[in-house]
Amino acid sequence: MKIICIGRNYADHARELNNEIPSEPVIFIKPETALLPKGHPFFYPDHTEELHFELELVLRINRLGKHIDKKFSHKYYSEIGLGIDFTARDVQDACKKKGLPWEKAKAFDHSAPISKRFVKITDLPDSTAIRFELKKNGSSVQVGNSADMLFNFDQLIAHTSKYFTLKIGDLLFTGTPKGVGSVEKGDKLEAFLEGEQLLSIEIK
Ligand code: ZN
Repeated sequence: MKIICIGRNYADHARELNNEIPSEPVIFIKPETALLPKGHPFFYPDHTEELHFELELVLRINRLGKHIDKKFSHKYYSEIGLGIDFTARDVQDACKKKGLPWEKAKAFDHSAPISKRFVKITDLPDSTAIRFELKKNGSSVQVGNSADMLFNFDQLIAHTSKYFTLKIGDLLFTGTPKGVGSVEKGDKLEAFLEGEQLLSIEIK
């Protein structure tokens, strides 16, 4: 399986990192080894001194598809969860300056922990305005709403499937809202979907 990630999908986040508002989705990939195995602690990676959290809504692909038309996109996912797109921001900044790819900053082992539980989108109060929140050590740091995405789920499925065949079990990280920031060893991150805690990570 693969993890397809969208960058800069919330205008307020693009601005906080001084990035342009994109005219089409920014895509990058994380390999399967970016998942955090069940019960495995999260260790602060050795190769960065500026590890950032990015909380994102994550779709799980439930059907094989390529070149999916936007009007059929909704048939390719039914469940949503939460994930953290851990980013070595210092490494990413160095890559960006040199025009190099981001994998060392974004796709390293355990850089994509996801919630154990995914929920049916149809069970949510409003599938077009899904609220999510990240707390660090008990204080709210990121509050997002899917209504603020520059490209909605169906547009993302249509766009990403032009380049990559979507397979059952693939994950789509849909971008982070503003409020990204750094973590240190000992910090605790808790992520909520519509007020329900789905993910909790302690940085070791
Ligand atoms: Zn991200």
